[in-house]
Amino acid sequence: MITVKCANCRKKLFRYEKVGKGRLWHLWKERITEDNSVREGSEVRCACGNFIGIEEAKWIKLKTHSVTYSGSITKN
Ligand SMILES: [Zn+2]
Repeated sequence: MITVKCANCRKKLFRYEKVGKGRLWHLWKERITEDNSVREGSEVRCACGNFIGIEEAKWIKLKTHSVTYSGSITKN
């Protein structure tokens, strides 16, 4: 699991199961286990107002550099 934090205020936004290496472009909804984000329609934001990404049908499409993350990645 990885912890995804706001790049602006460092608040914890998501706990997420990231599979495989490479950049984090999307958060698949089915792999999110904890969600502390704020929604404005399809916009996903941190409580501080930082724009995180757009919620689409199956995932949240992250804005580049909106978040940081740490933790262990599931190898697949
Ligand atoms: Zn924030």
